[in-house]
Amino acid sequence: MIEMKIFPPKLLAFFSILINFGCISQVPSFSGESAFQYLEKQCSFGPRNPGSEGYELCKSFLIDELSKFSDSVFTQKFNQLIPGTNRTMEMTNIIGKLSGSGARPILLGAHWDTRPTADHDANPEKRDKPILGANDGASGVAVLLEIARVLSQYPHDETVYIVFFDAEDLGIEGEHRSYALGAQYFAKNLPISKPELAIILDMVGDANLELPIERNSYYQNPQLVKYLWNLADEIGLTAFEKNLGYEIYDDHVPLWENANIPAIDIIDFNYPNRWSNFWHTHDDVPENCSAESLNQVGTLLVHYIYDR
Ligand SMILES: [Zn+2]
Repeated sequence: MIEMKIFPPKLLAFFSILINFGCISQVPSFSGESAFQYLEKQCSFGPRNPGSEGYELCKSFLIDELSKFSDSVFTQKFNQLIPGTNRTMEMTNIIGKLSGSGARPILLGAHWDTRPTADHDANPEKRDKPILGANDGASGVAVLLEIARVLSQYPHDETVYIVFFDAEDLGIEGEHRSYALGAQYFAKNLPISKPELAIILDMVGDANLELPIERNSYYQNPQLVKYLWNLADEIGLTAFEKNLGYEIYDDHVPLWENANIPAIDIIDFNYPNRWSNFWHTHDDVPENCSAESLNQVGTLLVHYIYDR
């Protein structure tokens, strides 16, 4: 994921429109504590950059764990030229199909790989070492594994695809399309029936969670953005902020550009705040994330899925 431009926040007037919800009381609960254990488990493997030991261990874990909750799990393998080199490596997107057989499937996604370098670390001597990626990598996957667990316990009519994208974070800064390579391959070689929409999670574990609306999301699916941020307001999820934040190239952009899937990204790029950032540093560790933050994002998605 890479930040593209910075815009000043702008209040969106149309959010004053209230929406009604029919059956909030029947929505199953999401456990932020359980999701946080998934975050810690991924980090226990060490950095998960392609080619590392942690990458292989985590890949096996994710396939096994997702299989416990899914009707079916399969992988989409592809050979990828590593940006800035002449080497290719085999990469793996992991796809789970859950719940019903309705005609309105949705896709929930997150990248599972972590960045091979800490290019923004304050210590220049540590910049060539891979990051742990507690927030940038593990957090989105953690929320989705917990959602998979909930869906397996409380079956739902509509199909939910959960996709763990590989090779999101191998990019060269300033070259947007050297990022999100797994999502690019997925979108160009769609291995599932086309979902009605997609919601990507990235960097949702920050203990100081702030979730303004990412700008490409607003261009690509304004209806969904408005619905979700209004829903968050309705159920008291205070991390969600009804203003426009950064424009970010993440896995949602190739889904829209290459497969015409109206996709959005829930992301907190100010980690922990607008004055300092643990992004792509060795401070991206579980201690800077929280169960409560994962709980806010997971709770919103569970409400969305069961209220559709
Ligand atoms: Zn990253």
